[in-house]
Amino acid sequence: MASSQKHCSILGAGLVGSLLSVYMARRGYQVDVYERRPDLRKAGNYGGRSINLALSDRGFKALERVGLADAVREVGIPMYGRMMHHQDGRLVYQPYGKEGQAIYSVSRSGLNFRLMDLAEQEKSVNLHFNHRCAEVDVRNKKVTFEHSETGASHQQAYDLLFGSDGAFSALRGSMMKSDRFDYSQDYLPHGYKELTIHPDENGGFRMEKYALHIWPRGQYMLIALPNPDGSFTCTLFFPFEGNPSFASLDTPEKVHAFFAEVFPDTLTLMPHLVEEYLSNPTSSLVTVHCSPWTFGGHTALIGDAAHAIVPFYGQGMNCGFEDCSVLDDLIHELGDDWSAVLPAYEQLRKPDGDAIARLAKDNFIEMRDLVADPDFLLRKKIEARIFEHFPDDWVPLYTMVTFSPDIRYSEALRRGKAQEKIMDEVMAMPDIHQTWDSPEVFQRICEVVTTHQFGRV
Ligand SMILES: Cc1cc2nc3c(=O)[nH]c(=O)nc-3n(C[C@H](O)[C@H](O)[C@H](O)COP(=O)(O)OP(=O)(O)OC[C@H]3O[C@@H](n4cnc5c(N)ncnc54)[C@H](O)[C@@H]3O)c2cc1C
Repeated sequence: MASSQKHCSILGAGLVGSLLSVYMARRGYQVDVYERRPDLRKAGNYGGRSINLALSDRGFKALERVGLADAVREVGIPMYGRMMHHQDGRLVYQPYGKEGQAIYSVSRSGLNFRLMDLAEQEKSVNLHFNHRCAEVDVRNKKVTFEHSETGASHQQAYDLLFGSDGAFSALRGSMMKSDRFDYSQDYLPHGYKELTIHPDENGGFRMEKYALHIWPRGQYMLIALPNPDGSFTCTLFFPFEGNPSFASLDTPEKVHAFFAEVFPDTLTLMPHLVEEYLSNPTSSLVTVHCSPWTFGGHTALIGDAAHAIVPFYGQGMNCGFEDCSVLDDLIHELGDDWSAVLPAYEQLRKPDGDAIARLAKDNFIEMRDLVADPDFLLRKKIEARIFEHFPDDWVPLYTMVTFSPDIRYSEALRRGKAQEKIMDEVMAMPDIHQTWDSPEVFQRICEVVTTHQFGRV
């Protein structure tokens, strides 16, 4: 354990920075966290991105270590499966995992505020609000801050610095100026807009509470996650350009006609849909890859600053929380030798960040398109049956990513691709839709799966 003189600076008091500060304090560090925004707990207005988030086992595992998992579980809403809303009004439910397995809808601001409170309860954590990092001199270990209200700037030396300052990280921007720093960002042609389904007149939920609702429509989709007050926050993922697109739906009449045709059941659920649609902002979706994540054994990127991903696996925050717990394991193993801890952290996490970025993009296609496809649904049913039959050997990809925090994202991606090939072979069996359930055919399916050693090698 480090001595109390050890000092760590963190940029950003978002979800990851706040959690990291608690971890570092518990490892004996004096921690200063610099956040560009004012203390939003006082203002009561969080702003920014999605109102709620799906928290799953990787995130819970990291929260568990700081004693917050149960409290968050209590206020979150478990979503045990997807409820698909078809255009003809049919509802089709698909469980996410085994009985009792759920992802949790949690309030982004509620969780961030809890984490900030927890950080402040640690005597050795100081949160500095209105401190915008303008630049970092990584060679000389100095950060320049600008006060967000007064504009006054000052420079501060650091011993150890983490940039958890999000997808457009100032630390990453400064690291990019060093030699041989790789960087890429790509935007999806789709953006997103949030809409609301309000509670019914008795404060109840207007749709199934314990599910993530999806309206898959091929090139685009609408999703909805429940909130504790009986409302749902919906997110429309939709192309920026083309027809239909955010650009083409530009009058109240067009918006109403489009929803009436494509998402007909939402019109009664969202009586204020048109006003909300036209007044709420449209935001973009970016993936960021960069390397290296660390510099000189004293400076590191973490969370979205290192690996911003698109939200379709519900893993961005979970991955950032997992960064914190992996880092904590490494401190446990290697002590406070940061010239060993940071390279080990990067070596472990970079392939996992890249893997979840890819999985998240692939899952957009699955959510918006494939979940409405009978072949895909049968594939999932057969996979669930194989999982039941060989619970230790065949874990479906969604389960590996979401409910198996001991399987690395990179391993989940590798095994998922191998399983996909095996399932292609299974789905090519004659009359599979009619026969898969028969004992003989299921026996043949098991043979295919075992011949390929479950895709493990
Ligand atoms: C629409 C949408 C839905 C999502 N849904 C999910 C989901 O269901 N599940 C999930 O796990 N993830 C989800 N995510 C991803 C998740 O929001 C991010 O992965 C997560 O917020 C990353 O946390 P972070 O702390 O790294 O960054 P952020 O949450 O962005 O926090 C960064 C902090 O740094 C501060 N900051 C920024 N610049 C500076 C600076 N220069 N100086 C000082 N402070 C600075 C910011 O004000 C902020 O407080 C979603 C994302 C989007 C866009």
